[in-house]
Amino acid sequence: MHRRKNRRLRTILWITVALLAAGALTLAAVLTFSAGGAAPVSPPAAEEVDPPEPPEPPLPPEEPYDPTGLSGYQLKYPEMRVKRPNRNPQGPEEKTAYLTFDDGPSKFTPEILDILDRYGVKATFFVVGEGKEGFDSYYKEIADRGHTLAMHTQTHDYKKIYASVDAFLDDYHQIFTKIERLTGTTPELFRFPGGSVNGYNKKVNTAIIEEMTRRGFLYYDWNVSSADSAKGTTVETVKGNILNATPDLHRAIILMHDASDKRPTVDALPEVIEGLRAQGFVFDRLTQDVKPYTYQ
Ligand code: ZN
Repeated sequence: MHRRKNRRLRTILWITVALLAAGALTLAAVLTFSAGGAAPVSPPAAEEVDPPEPPEPPLPPEEPYDPTGLSGYQLKYPEMRVKRPNRNPQGPEEKTAYLTFDDGPSKFTPEILDILDRYGVKATFFVVGEGKEGFDSYYKEIADRGHTLAMHTQTHDYKKIYASVDAFLDDYHQIFTKIERLTGTTPELFRFPGGSVNGYNKKVNTAIIEEMTRRGFLYYDWNVSSADSAKGTTVETVKGNILNATPDLHRAIILMHDASDKRPTVDALPEVIEGLRAQGFVFDRLTQDVKPYTYQ
């Protein structure tokens, strides 16, 4: 009897609790509805919201390797080619500066990369393969930090590489392979040692250009030189040579060197970047999307 009464009391208690809960829920629903339907969840602060990622542009179609009709040096190193070359690269819309560093890596590479990071600038490194003992990790570092890692030469020996198209390909196959091995990326751009037209390559440069173009590579000369290889180079000459040449340019492809005897280049770099910004330049790296600037 006593127990049954207790049970009845407990049942009544549960029903009361359930009714109260249902009432509270109904009230909450009504309030939400009258507030416009949106649940009053505090939105994240505006600065915490990442802008939506722009959709990846579609990759150009992969060009199949087809040896039909090829002969001689064209058949050498069939893997040395760009699988998705951009056959319609464009010039920049904005006034753009492309900083390019030849001959690296060197003991200064980490310092150059730090300066570029500090200013949020991406650049292009035309690297050499031979005589770079101890610098293996720098090739990957350049690529991993968002810069373009491009081919300059394995040996930088003008007489050797410009002896024939074959000799040029033999040299380039080594730097091509080294970059792929050390970084897992395929280089798609190059710069001729001495530029595309120089005293050593007159007889072969047209044929080299034709062959490298057939393989999908783009090459870039420069329209601004820091002249940091000249005797008596100082921070002031590097700055002056660049900043006096650039004001009227829409795009400046600037030649500098990443080399162990070129301390002034490193020291001038912050002021070069600031000076170019003051002239209205934005910075970009060279890629297959950037129309080449070439002497020939
Ligand atoms: Zn060079």
